[in-house]
Amino acid sequence: MKKILVLHTGGTIAMSADEDGAVAPTDQNPMAGFEKLFDNQLMIESETFANLPSPHITPAVMLDLKNRIQQAEEDGIDGVVVTHGTDTLEETAYFLDLTLPNNIPVVVTGAMRSSNEIGADGLHNLISAVWTAASDDAHDKGVLVVMNDEIHTARYVTKTHTTNVATFRTPTFGPIGLVSKHNANFFQELIRSEICDIKTLVEPVYLLKAYAGMDGTLFNAIDQPNTKGLVIEALGAGNLPPATLPAVQSLLNHNIPIVLVSRCFNGIAEDVYDYQGGGVKLKQMGITFCQGLNGPKARLKLQVGLSAGKTGAALKEFVSNATS
Ligand code: ASP
Repeated sequence: MKKILVLHTGGTIAMSADEDGAVAPTDQNPMAGFEKLFDNQLMIESETFANLPSPHITPAVMLDLKNRIQQAEEDGIDGVVVTHGTDTLEETAYFLDLTLPNNIPVVVTGAMRSSNEIGADGLHNLISAVWTAASDDAHDKGVLVVMNDEIHTARYVTKTHTTNVATFRTPTFGPIGLVSKHNANFFQELIRSEICDIKTLVEPVYLLKAYAGMDGTLFNAIDQPNTKGLVIEALGAGNLPPATLPAVQSLLNHNIPIVLVSRCFNGIAEDVYDYQGGGVKLKQMGITFCQGLNGPKARLKLQVGLSAGKTGAALKEFVSNATS
């Protein structure tokens, strides 16, 4: 019988609503006891790793979680499920995807409705995630996110709606699989991924979003000796307002790596436009284009690359490669 470890970290899946509808963490996890649903089918171990709303999760917590999962692998666990708040779920999932060796299935799930709200989705998502983690077909797929009967890759999934249970989407090409009854059915898989087994975290790495009329003020604010990197969610295919350029050049002059993604919900950033602030010029300045990731994930990728000791061309290659 397969052994699945469920690591609870908090989030709405571990919360309840009061009579006014305000949702907050509870002392007793409402998912407690769900293990009996798998009697005689799977061995489930549950552990309270943390009880944090996901806006309280930091890369340091993600690194601890990665270490806990590696320990579980060494202890002979066959698959891991992480329950997590949905606000930063995609970031924790992608951090694990970048840093775990991909030996056993790791599935992250959560809930959009707390345990005592009508239509609560937590238990259903947890059960789907456990069946996915126990599936032979879930191996070598990277870290997965299971929500609302869909299986997504940690690399490309994103939260798209504030409250809808169908919030998690993969804008470019959709889910890679579906959960039906006890089965995880896969239809696609990712090409490859480069794993960085990091031990410590390099910080701070910042994320800024471009907008019409943006100037250099925010870039100047982070132009500090301790700044390690910056990701910019640029306009369209990858362009910036011209008034940002002197401050962006100053960051580059101070050897602060700058990575560019698009603020668009879908598509990839590319050096298409050759006007002042256009992508062709930005690339010539030394900005690295990262294809396919959103801003928060590109930020984690840059942070993980730096934390693995990558610099210069190796860092550029790691961050810009769309298939890792
Ligand atoms: N704010 C909550 C959290 O991320 C949302 C959720 O879990 O769905 O912790």
